[in-house]
Amino acid sequence: MPVTLPPTRRAVLAAATAVLVPRANLLAAPEPDADPHRVAFLSDSHIGETAEAKDKDCVMAERLKAVVAEVAKLAPRPACAVVNGDLAHKTGTAAEYKLFASLVEPVRAAGVPLHLGLGNHDNFTRFAEGLNGFRPKDKPVEGKHVTVVELGRANLFVLDSFDPKNTVGGILGADQLKWLAKELDARKTQPAVVCVHHPLQFDAPKGGKANGIADTADFWPLLKDRAWVKAFVFGHTHTWRLAERDGVHLINLPAIGYPFNKTEVSGWVDAHFTEKGVKLELRALDPKHAKHGDKADLTWRKG
Ligand SMILES: [Zn+2]
Repeated sequence: MPVTLPPTRRAVLAAATAVLVPRANLLAAPEPDADPHRVAFLSDSHIGETAEAKDKDCVMAERLKAVVAEVAKLAPRPACAVVNGDLAHKTGTAAEYKLFASLVEPVRAAGVPLHLGLGNHDNFTRFAEGLNGFRPKDKPVEGKHVTVVELGRANLFVLDSFDPKNTVGGILGADQLKWLAKELDARKTQPAVVCVHHPLQFDAPKGGKANGIADTADFWPLLKDRAWVKAFVFGHTHTWRLAERDGVHLINLPAIGYPFNKTEVSGWVDAHFTEKGVKLELRALDPKHAKHGDKADLTWRKG
């Protein structure tokens, strides 16, 4: 005699399965895979020596903590995150870097590689000592922290514009520029995105103190004359703004630590590289800010 279950029992089993199976799967589920085309762009965290340190009424550690928590739980998780300079509040002290390292740990624990650039409020020597774990084994430019990140649809070049002789402006220097040209030329088949803390400054005084990149006149031709260089990403101004120059997209990241002007948005940028460009979404620290969720769909220049 065939065994048949009465409908009531079948219904009970189905209900039990419906509840139990997804639960069991959820528990056994691996972490969601990284999206190889997604990058979290952060800048100007300005972490002080204590978790309570404030500037312009902003507690910087609290703000980085909030951004880090958001980035760490992104699903799918990004291929990497970049903090584009001014990691530290003032001068890149050992205490500032120690606190910075502990604050960004959740991003690394979530399996998101973190790449750091250096700006005018950093210090190369103390960075290299305190955050050595963030440095690739290969250190091709003496006295500068540089990284190339190869993603599926773009390569990121994260540079170092810290200038020990200038507390405001920055400099890339001949050695870093020579290295950059060589690394760009070795990767002509993928769009290149170059990240520097400081903005371009074409009128930087020769031998004087620049506010932006002192050697812009040497740096910019390396980018604009290579058609596969599609975007230049920078911070420093604590302003979210998009522009274009010579067909290259200029992406100015907002600050995390504090805005210079209270009405300016603070936060980070969620980037998704496509076959033809990049889609950006601004994630404001204040979700009520008018610019929270601002989107841009940038198309790469030809070549
Ligand atoms: Zn800054």
